[in-house]
Amino acid sequence: DNVILDIKDLVVSFHTYAGEVQAIRGVTFKLKKGEALAIVGESGSGKSVTAQTVMRLIPAGIGKVKNGTVMFEGTKDIVKLSDKEMEQIRGSEMGMIFQDPMTSLNPTMTIGDQITEGLIKHQRLSKQAANERAIEILGLVGIPNPKARMKQYPHHFSGGMRQRVMIAIALACNPKLLIADEPTTALDVTIQAQILDLLKDLQKKLDTSIIMITHDLGVVAEIAQKVVVMYAGKVVEHGTVEDVFYNPRHPYTWGLLRSMPRIDSDSSEPLVPIEGSPPSMINPPKGCAFAARCPYAMKVCLEHDPAHTVISGEHTAACWLTDPNAPKVERPVEVGG
Ligand code: SF4
Ligand code: MG
Repeated sequence: DNVILDIKDLVVSFHTYAGEVQAIRGVTFKLKKGEALAIVGESGSGKSVTAQTVMRLIPAGIGKVKNGTVMFEGTKDIVKLSDKEMEQIRGSEMGMIFQDPMTSLNPTMTIGDQITEGLIKHQRLSKQAANERAIEILGLVGIPNPKARMKQYPHHFSGGMRQRVMIAIALACNPKLLIADEPTTALDVTIQAQILDLLKDLQKKLDTSIIMITHDLGVVAEIAQKVVVMYAGKVVEHGTVEDVFYNPRHPYTWGLLRSMPRIDSDSSEPLVPIEGSPPSMINPPKGCAFAARCPYAMKVCLEHDPAHTVISGEHTAACWLTDPNAPKVERPVEVGG
């Protein structure tokens, strides 16, 4: 079995003063070994919460997994592991890179100590062996003069170099799964391209599986083989990059493709934002969550949430337009935004 991560029917909620926010409302997808999968969608779609659930970083007492399984390597359900088992996995089998390296690096610790900490604790390396590994990995992520840089603090590094350090920390333990949440968003365009090239390169070299969360389709084209499109806490389309970019089937995906810049395309078509905004996740709508913004919405869309239809192979979309069980004679209806 070559599946590293198998998420099924995941439901995650958060308690807020305003009520229960249904951040994830039934998410299912798989990640194969060595594969890079991108999760795309607007902010608030549940992308980050999905990643945090996989890393078990949902704050206890506020967030709760209400249903579903997150099987890691076939046998371990992340949802059910003890804190101790999870800490072990987090330090040795999963790595995470966040958007803003400045807030995830400890400003009072040298870069060297931050990389060796996990190696000593989780991999039980000696101080000496951990140091050697840290220097090696800093070199691998393209930090010049790594031995000297080990003794420096985060503020000695530029934004791009700090993100390289984060990648080094995430990769130091040779994780099987790397989760990157908007890893290049805070960086300027040239540095973004360098960091993406680095991730792509490392993925090939180390054969790590990657989940990349992004709102940038250029990033998807650059790095991923698979794409999961999320809207209002659900997966609305799923497939290979080819499927989703060249044969998209969900009106939300159509909107995303028109609204996001693409570095792989020299099309001069203007970007068209998707009108309206996502629904409240405290009281999500009864039918398709995209109906209020969808130019193709039909009566059935307001009443019933569409299931996923297989388009071909692993390509699926959840829309009444592609559902063979959709009512036959229907016209688009006017829906308020
Ligand atoms: Fe639009 Fe209906 Fe498809 Fe939802 S199910 S995306 S409202 S056509
Ligand atoms: Mg996010």
